[in-house]
Amino acid sequence: MKTEDMARLLVPASAALVATLALGSGVSRGAPVRIAAPEAEGALSPAHLAPALCPAGSLPDGDACVRLPDEDDGPDVEAESNGHHDKQGHWVVYEQIPRRPERPADYDAYRYPVPCQHGCVVSGYDLDRPDDTQRRGRRLSHVGHGAVDLPQKKGTPITAVPLEHQQGDAEVAYVGPLFGTTVITRCAVREGGQVRDYLVLYGHLDAPTAGLTVGAHVAEGQRVGFVGDTGSPELVHLHLETRRVRDGVEIAKLAPGAMIANENSVVCDPRNVLQLR
Ligand SMILES: [Zn+2]
Repeated sequence: MKTEDMARLLVPASAALVATLALGSGVSRGAPVRIAAPEAEGALSPAHLAPALCPAGSLPDGDACVRLPDEDDGPDVEAESNGHHDKQGHWVVYEQIPRRPERPADYDAYRYPVPCQHGCVVSGYDLDRPDDTQRRGRRLSHVGHGAVDLPQKKGTPITAVPLEHQQGDAEVAYVGPLFGTTVITRCAVREGGQVRDYLVLYGHLDAPTAGLTVGAHVAEGQRVGFVGDTGSPELVHLHLETRRVRDGVEIAKLAPGAMIANENSVVCDPRNVLQLR
């Protein structure tokens, strides 16, 4: 077995990313899209981090510098590597697809499958952030967060919303235990001149819609389930995660854990694919 294979491990709270462990090093292959903004001398707030403090080819966004897309990046954004310390303190490098610069940062700008007024996203996508600003959760039970969390009343219906540039209906790919009771749908999305499959993962459901089975089509407005706290006792919320299926992977043939393994699908910032309000 190759060292790289031996170093693969599971990061459960960040959507079971199968990540590659880079032993003793924070250096990843490929350029991370976000890089920590340099420490300013004195007591400058992030607002004072002028563009001049970010390296050429990047702009400040909060406390990070966001790399501007290269001209030859085209309309599509390839997966980038990032990293964080796992629960054992090891530095783990993973792939993720960060928010594209032209997509609004404000979570309130998007449509969600549950009723959502202002501030309904309480925990956002942070796998593109520096390690020390990623979610840790209670008892270090989380390491980063590759999704958005939407607290709702228990039993709130979850109603499918199409993704941006989605082609046709979503199709149910999985119903059962994963992140508590979970429904996964597969959506074909036109991007960068081609059609790609995305997965939408609805986690911690009280229950799926009765009769929802793998292969069923889910049209806009159709219910997929009800908000609950399975797998997250007393924290009633919808965990909504989006992942881009790797080219050539036939998701329907995979077990649910393999569907969301990094080798088969790459976690992406939901703001890239959710529709704007
Ligand atoms: Zn979550």
